[in-house]
Amino acid sequence: KAKEQGVNKFKVFNKTMHEKALQSLLIETEIRQGIPENEFFPYFQPVYSMQNRNLAGFEALVRWNHPERGFLTPDQIIPVAEETGLIVELDRIILFEACRFMSAWIRLYPNANDLFLTVNLSPSQLSKPDLAEAIETIVQETKIPADNLKLEITESAIMERNAASSLNLKKIGEMGIRLAVDDFGTGYSSLAQLQRFPASTVKIDRSFVSHMASDHESLEIVRAVNALGHSLSMDVIAEGVETREQLILLKDIGCDYVQGYYFDKPQTNEDAEKLVKMRSEGFCPPGLTTI
Ligand code: C2E
Ligand code: MG
Ligand code: MG
Ligand code: MG
Repeated sequence: KAKEQGVNKFKVFNKTMHEKALQSLLIETEIRQGIPENEFFPYFQPVYSMQNRNLAGFEALVRWNHPERGFLTPDQIIPVAEETGLIVELDRIILFEACRFMSAWIRLYPNANDLFLTVNLSPSQLSKPDLAEAIETIVQETKIPADNLKLEITESAIMERNAASSLNLKKIGEMGIRLAVDDFGTGYSSLAQLQRFPASTVKIDRSFVSHMASDHESLEIVRAVNALGHSLSMDVIAEGVETREQLILLKDIGCDYVQGYYFDKPQTNEDAEKLVKMRSEGFCPPGLTTI
């Protein structure tokens, strides 16, 4: 009986693995077909400055307009794209498109030239020998001023440094493009590793921000990451701010920037542009002016 069960279990496991592999293969094929059809594009999530109490920039996040399955988000794209190496091409499409929009907004609206754009870079890109040149070409073609651009790299990636990635980081820095460490607190990097990484910004992971009002340890982690960032002369962004309570705590802690559903979800380039326009006309979002 036990043996029978064991065999059945094995079969079930095997079938799931098989289905998963087929599913990935299907998605891989669809990503390949979707790239030349322009099915991938950036959404923009606003980031707000605590000091200016106003819009400070945007994070670009990939979305997929799938011909049959409709609107898809990164959890349905990134894992397969990473496995198959298609992430390199996808990231460059998102970088190009996001830079193109930001560059246009800077030219269209007064005062928009201090807005920043952050774009996510897959850790696997960092050691690609042509990364810095590819970024340079995108910056030149889209005419985005390099100092308006920041690249986000997850904390886990800052530990895997090699000669190729160090050279890329050096070239990116020389172009005047800044770096942000994403999802900080979830990896296991040491203080020394963070200090050696040439980033200007650290982003506190959403998991700590979500729990900071109810869980003392999360609150202390947010406080500690903020202090660590500031002691390394980095500015600090809290991601995933959903409540006024979290916002007030972050203000008391002295966090520089906030991003989250409390303000806005990631949105289309048209909606993002409206925010840039409103800011150029002197509008301040009410959520920040009253704290
Ligand atoms: P991330 O870079 O940490 O981006 C923040 C994610 O948190 C986004 O999810 C955003 O929609 C979500 N978020 C922001 N504020 C809130 C909030 O208040 N509540 C909740 N529940 N969620 C919030 P999204 O767009 O699904 O992206 C997920 C992840 O996929 C990103 O995490 C990033 O690691 C990756 N990703 C997205 N776009 C790209 C891309 O173009 N290239 C690469 N390599 N990775 C990307
Ligand atoms: Mg990010
Ligand atoms: Mg993040
Ligand atoms: Mg994240």
